Amino acid sequence: MCSSASRVGVQGSWIQEILKSEQATGILIMHLPHVRWACGFTGSNGFLLVKEERLHLFTDRRYETQATLEVHGAQIHIGSDNLVDLVRNEGLVLATDRLLIQPQCMTVADLYRWEAAFPGISLIPRKNLLNRSVAVKSEEAIAKMRQAQSISDAVFHDIIPHITLGIREIELAALIDYEHRLRGASGMAFETIVAFGANSALPHARPGNRALGTDEPVLLDFGCSFDGYTSDMTRTLHCGEPPSTEFRAVYEAVQEAQERAVSVTHTGMDASAVDHAARSNLVTAGLGDFFSHSTGHGIGLEVHEWPRISANSSAILEKGQTITIEPGVYLPGRFGVRIEDTVLIGASACERLSHIERDLIIV
Ligand code: ZN
Ligand code: ZN
Repeated sequence: MCSSASRVGVQGSWIQEILKSEQATGILIMHLPHVRWACGFTGSNGFLLVKEERLHLFTDRRYETQATLEVHGAQIHIGSDNLVDLVRNEGLVLATDRLLIQPQCMTVADLYRWEAAFPGISLIPRKNLLNRSVAVKSEEAIAKMRQAQSISDAVFHDIIPHITLGIREIELAALIDYEHRLRGASGMAFETIVAFGANSALPHARPGNRALGTDEPVLLDFGCSFDGYTSDMTRTLHCGEPPSTEFRAVYEAVQEAQERAVSVTHTGMDASAVDHAARSNLVTAGLGDFFSHSTGHGIGLEVHEWPRISANSSAILEKGQTITIEPGVYLPGRFGVRIEDTVLIGASACERLSHIERDLIIV
């Protein structure tokens, strides 16, 4: 079935730009978040073919009704098992075509299927295809990201009284997830991290059965999805007073590194310079060796998207991009501290989407 023929609308410029610069005859978008970005489709199976300035969504019967409701600016093609056969039967692609593909999303099985259907076709891999276009958010996308973050902020605020001696990491994580759902999140953006004591020294700790004891840090890293767009934040709290001098010193160094990086971030800046701003502060504090990951990542329809905010990133920040800034220090077997905010890149500064304070909270 096909919807009424549709011209490419607002997104048109990216198509011409890409096709012209790559001398290609079409684009095959298999990365589902990008399919959603380009035409609104949220189903779990399908791909978008761009040919002659028109978008064609191919999906299966399960999504027939959903696609009709969601998709804008693309012609809908409904097939059964082999959607590539449908492309061929509809005559949309020829063996002489040069199609740009996203190699990280095309399986070997997909590749064989396309090459079998169109012998001799040129499938040209472009790892960063669409990444720049998707990274710059529309006003509508920014509003959704603000909403996602405001849900996470409200949850953070409300769970603090529940962080009491004896609560297990897994209980607190369940509570965080539940509270997000109650406030309208469609789900969590990633598995919630709750790490007590020495577990906080693992940057990607998984919540387990550990019960909160006194004089322990509490690292919370979570985010949700709201109408497709995500939030991401980390705060490290401390249970019991006063924290050790060492914990306090590490906390202050991380806070200063995070605040310094946020204060210098703006349009036109190298992503690597944001990393440098955070990292150099921790190096000066003698903690550089314990900051074991990059400073942040792009965020939007996916919690981790282009660009990476790392020392070897070649990306340049643009107005309307959203990234995280999340330096951390991890002392193995002892404790870790991370502070993370999602920020919106503006002309001469950036704006934190979270309004949660960064001074140490003691529970
Ligand atoms: Zn995070
Ligand atoms: Zn993050």
